[in-house]
Amino acid sequence: MAVSATESEVWEALREVEDPEIPGLSVVDLGIVDRVRVDEGEIEVDITPTFTGCPAVEMMRREIELELSRLAERVRVRVTFERAWTSDRITKAGREHLRRSGLTPPPREGSIELQVRAKCPYCGSHDTRIENAFGPTLCRSIHYCNACHQPFEAFKPV
Ligand SMILES: [Zn+2]
Repeated sequence: MAVSATESEVWEALREVEDPEIPGLSVVDLGIVDRVRVDEGEIEVDITPTFTGCPAVEMMRREIELELSRLAERVRVRVTFERAWTSDRITKAGREHLRRSGLTPPPREGSIELQVRAKCPYCGSHDTRIENAFGPTLCRSIHYCNACHQPFEAFKPV
């Protein structure tokens, strides 16, 4: 198989890989792709999961390998924590997608939001409470908005 994949083709392919827990959100928009290297028929991708305990990591890794296997003979996906993932790595499109899905992006690191309560994605109110710290997945929690009386999910702050 001729090696013709370029780094931008790899990034393009990665946009097709969705976060298993958030349909429609690509791993690129989530900001977990740390680095892409293309070298003599081998693609190496470094990913930094949003949460260390996230069981979706293995799944994502396999999906990335599958997606990229049509671009190169060898694909390696490395999980790295060299540079910690922060919510600042979510792209603008990714934030918009989370908001539309009723998910609150995790508070920006070092921001005041870390001390306050989760912001309601529907009305923007901070008058919220944690309903259930153990959401549908290990990475999310259920909150309830006192202002508009709607439950919503949020990422757990790390
Ligand atoms: Zn609300």
